Amino acid sequence: MDIIAKNLQQLQQQIQAAEQLYHRQPDSVQLLAVSKQQTVSAIKTAITAGQNLFGENYVQEAVTKITTINNSALEWHFIGAVQTNKTALIAQYFHWVHSVDRLSIAKRLSSQRSPELPPLNICLQVNIDNEPQKAGVTLQELPQLAAEISHLPRLKLRGLMTIPAPKETFDEQRQAFRQLRLALENLQKSGLKLDTLSMGMSHDFTAAIAEGATIIRIGTAIFGRRVT
Ligand SMILES: *Cc1c(COP(=O)(O)O)cnc(C)c1O
Repeated sequence: MDIIAKNLQQLQQQIQAAEQLYHRQPDSVQLLAVSKQQTVSAIKTAITAGQNLFGENYVQEAVTKITTINNSALEWHFIGAVQTNKTALIAQYFHWVHSVDRLSIAKRLSSQRSPELPPLNICLQVNIDNEPQKAGVTLQELPQLAAEISHLPRLKLRGLMTIPAPKETFDEQRQAFRQLRLALENLQKSGLKLDTLSMGMSHDFTAAIAEGATIIRIGTAIFGRRVT
């Protein structure tokens, strides 16, 4: 079997095992295959193996792949830094954006989303460890930003995303993800209808599932190391 298909199969088994171990509903965790810097051919292999959610970080690279593959059964998630001059392309080609952290970007995405398309699904990126160099809204600023973005007409605010600082232990990984879950629960209590926690990557997805992840974003464990 192809290595990509084998990795996907193994990941699905690990996800299932983690769902059981941590008392999550079966199939409550979706696998987003992060295909940045991977070829169209690698993506097609993953599609043949049954994968249909893909995450991309670079707009131009992604648009080329999306139009080349041209498969309406796929769902494309933008997970990279959103630059102001790229919002129109993102609004046109993607189903989800996980990396929104300011109102000005959200307003542009909303106004540029075509009325013929369903609303663009949005996660707010949270800088859970307050790292100065990292993107994301702080936990303090989150409630106001979420409230403002929830009113934008062409967006559907779905939940939160984070990329924690690297942690030494499983318990420390869980602690960071727990903060994101608690933040989501607080927003839900304030009346927002949210259902998504985008958290967990190749090295920490089990801890993320333990803390309630609904989408894990996996690159290396599917496609191998990225070559730059
Ligand atoms: C690259 C990337 C991933 C995937 O990381 P791996 O360690 O390769 O699984 C997940 N999320 C974001 C935002 C990324 O940029």
